[in-house]
Amino acid sequence: MSLRPTLDFLLYQWLDAGALNGRARFADHSRETFDAVLDTCERIAREKYAPFNRLVDTQEPQFDGERVILPQATHDAQKAYAESGMLSAAQDFEMGGMQLPYTIEAAANSFFACASVSIGSGMLTTGNANLLMVHGTPSQKEVFSKNEFAGRWSGTMCLSEPQAGSSLSDVATRAVPDGEGFESDPLGARYRLKGNKMWISAGEHELTENIIHLVLAKIPGPDGKLVAGTRGISLFIVPKKMVNPAGELTGERNDVALAGLNHKLGWRGTTNTLLNFGEGKYPVRSTGGGLDGQGAGAVGYLVGKPGEGLRCMFHMMNEARIGVGIAATMLGMAGYYASLDYAKNRPQGRPVGVGGKDASQPQVRIIEHADVKRMLLAQKSYCEGALALELYCARLVDEQHTGDAQSADDARLLLEVLTPIAKSWPSEWCLEANSLAIQIHGGYGYTRDFPVEQYWRDNRLNMIHEGAHGIQAMDLLGRKVLMENGRGLLLLSGRINATVQRAQQVPELAAHADALAQALQQVAGATQAAWSTGMPVDALANAVPYMQAFGHTVLAWIWLDVALAALALDATKSIAATAGRLGAARYFYHYELPKIGAWLNVVASRDQTCAGMPEDAF
Ligand SMILES: Cc1cc2nc3c(=O)[nH]c(=O)nc-3n(C[C@H](O)[C@H](O)[C@H](O)COP(=O)(O)OP(=O)(O)OC[C@H]3O[C@@H](n4cnc5c(N)ncnc54)[C@H](O)[C@@H]3O)c2cc1C
Repeated sequence: MSLRPTLDFLLYQWLDAGALNGRARFADHSRETFDAVLDTCERIAREKYAPFNRLVDTQEPQFDGERVILPQATHDAQKAYAESGMLSAAQDFEMGGMQLPYTIEAAANSFFACASVSIGSGMLTTGNANLLMVHGTPSQKEVFSKNEFAGRWSGTMCLSEPQAGSSLSDVATRAVPDGEGFESDPLGARYRLKGNKMWISAGEHELTENIIHLVLAKIPGPDGKLVAGTRGISLFIVPKKMVNPAGELTGERNDVALAGLNHKLGWRGTTNTLLNFGEGKYPVRSTGGGLDGQGAGAVGYLVGKPGEGLRCMFHMMNEARIGVGIAATMLGMAGYYASLDYAKNRPQGRPVGVGGKDASQPQVRIIEHADVKRMLLAQKSYCEGALALELYCARLVDEQHTGDAQSADDARLLLEVLTPIAKSWPSEWCLEANSLAIQIHGGYGYTRDFPVEQYWRDNRLNMIHEGAHGIQAMDLLGRKVLMENGRGLLLLSGRINATVQRAQQVPELAAHADALAQALQQVAGATQAAWSTGMPVDALANAVPYMQAFGHTVLAWIWLDVALAALALDATKSIAATAGRLGAARYFYHYELPKIGAWLNVVASRDQTCAGMPEDAF
């Protein structure tokens, strides 16, 4: 079993990604160039990532008092990734990019997530540089984006603070103008920053010559006070080492200091840091003097307009969240492949039924037990279904950027509704897949002699970062399904109903189609009932069960659509993969979709069991 045939089927048979070169932006591409990118990434992931996945887990980043040390394998992997051109895959040819559709970029990156999710922090560098390509000045693009795309420098996203995680409106990092002429710096209006940023991934290392931090901070008003809420948040480029407008290092260090490394449950190949900005450890005197005229304060260059920091950051959120969804999916997939292999080779027990207790008979392999097959099929349906969802969303990103006005706008709105699911569904269910992979390994799965426990630990992050699970759920029920008078939900319902109608014509899928139509009605009814009092405290009390039911309905739709494509390709079911896809779809409809009833009951009745529990009763 390998990932490539699954990807090829989803990309070319299901999503017709080959047709993307009909778009002007992708006209220089063909199935051959898409395949060449996939081949390259598959090879680099196999050679430079997979063999070192355990090593980066056991050799955590170390701080020697001056530098953060990472294994040589991480340096080699990141060099190979940068040389592949993937950092700038989506950019214009003139920028040295490939003008690659996001659908293909996302598929290609899935090989790395499957091989070793934590070796690579390329997603952060690409996200950082892409953001500057949209919101930066020409010189910010030239100096910062270009060097990041080239792999010479790397990027971070500095949003969180010790006291401000889910609630970014409470960001307290301050940015003040850096002396006279602060507005005329060629790299952008120059400020001095002071504050602490927590949890910053890839915040300190020696992998690249420089690290470009994108930092959210507030500019105080004339009274010296910070503006409350998100309106006061601005965005700044803060390089670890000072650079000149030609993009050369000046030799001076910026005032960004590592306060400490976080020692994590998983994802240990990537450093995670607490960074102090402007504490005075590395005073920078060569500009306007700093907060105290002595050089304290980290130098930062404003991106976009003051007060628009979050808007700039959120510009990249859809792709960042699809990226997290793919990481979660691929960790689930890696566990699925490992446990499938184990189940095919591990002899244990005898069949139930006649002769099953006869110890003189040889043992069977555990894949022959119905319950082990159940656990394998659950993993397959979660992970292959999630991969299909992520690629569908990636295809919407391409539609949004290259489709005609109407379909681009539809894609935008569908992405609004689907992004919380693309991020959260795999984070929950592909983590469950990892748990099942451990279960299939029995006691061996609980040891570090097998890879599945690491996949689970690595995956546990995904429900926490990029908007925690509960926050995503409130975004879905509190904002996304309501926005533009519910037009996004209506649009999604239209797509789901179109699949239902096609599947009703196929005897093998007709019962699934009816179940999906009913599920969709249940979701719509619960959405209305949740909001029937118009009170957020009623509606949002059960936002997570709502998101679970919504997500399962979306996945049931994806599986039905995939099953239609599988049958269209192989009506006689002559290839095993077709039976596999139909079996996974059937599993999802028989074992998973019925769960939505329980989830939606508490939503529709605005159940206050949890919300109303007095604190002292716990
Ligand atoms: C390994 C790792 C890497 C990270 N990388 C980065 C990075 O590169 N850059 C960056 O800026 N950040 C990063 N983060 C930070 C991450 O985004 C935050 O941890 C996350 O936003 C949650 O914030 P918090 O940890 O402060 O938890 P809190 O916000 O305190 O939340 C704790 C719990 O309470 C719930 N909760 C909080 N508020 C509400 C509410 N209003 N309603 C309902 N429930 C609520 C949350 O859902 C959560 O389950 C990373 C985190 C980790 C662990």
